[in-house]
Amino acid sequence: MPTHAWMTDDHRAFADTVKRFLSEEFQPNRDTWKEAGMIPKDFWRKAGDLGILGATVPEEHGGLGLSYGFDVVTFLEQGRIGDSGWGFSVHNIATHYIAAYGTEQQRARWLPKLASGEMVAAIAMTEPGTGSDLQAVKTTAIANGNEYCLNGSKTFITNGASADLIVTVAKTDPKSRSKGVSLMVVE
Ligand SMILES: Cc1cc2nc3c(=O)[nH]c(=O)nc-3n(C[C@H](O)[C@H](O)[C@H](O)COP(=O)(O)OP(=O)(O)OC[C@H]3O[C@@H](n4cnc5c(N)ncnc54)[C@H](O)[C@@H]3O)c2cc1C
Repeated sequence: MPTHAWMTDDHRAFADTVKRFLSEEFQPNRDTWKEAGMIPKDFWRKAGDLGILGATVPEEHGGLGLSYGFDVVTFLEQGRIGDSGWGFSVHNIATHYIAAYGTEQQRARWLPKLASGEMVAAIAMTEPGTGSDLQAVKTTAIANGNEYCLNGSKTFITNGASADLIVTVAKTDPKSRSKGVSLMVVE
């Protein structure tokens, strides 16, 4: 098996697990799921059961508490089979947003479900009229008492059709450019 200088025996053992999982659970279904444009929730849950989704989620929130290299192992194994259809990378980024920037209440509410695959995450940045220049997003999230009213359109969202948790880029202060942009977590 190809390896890298930074990999330990633990990374290689984890890579074997991911490789077997993709070979047995993903490859046989790949064409069908591509046709359907969707990865079934059951597949996410199996990845969660094996510790693939929660490898770097803190142990107190249902993960394995490992270093980021273990997530990289999964990306490498996806690359090895030429897969860009399973949106693990986006799920992983959203999970790390919550772990790094969420409140303790948000971490406790969402991280265990993101680690187990009970929840699939997406990130909604791109809009029909806004790509690279995220300061120009038109979606707004306007505070109204104890809630926000979120209004706008998004496109090209990986996991968008199956996501349970969508980290959405919106303007909370439409008069400001970069300073008025926020990440709203939509369950
Ligand atoms: C497979 C796939 C999955 C995606 N998943 C997601 C997702 O999960 N969530 C999400 O929010 N979006 C997603 N996107 C959208 C993607 O992030 C956008 O396509 C991207 O932000 C670029 O926007 P755009 O296509 O409008 O191109 P534009 O922003 O219009 O850019 C067009 C071209 O101009 C260049 N360019 C832009 N600005 C500048 C500049 N200032 N200087 C020089 N060159 C510049 C760009 O490099 C590019 O070559 C996905 C796209 C694809 C193809």
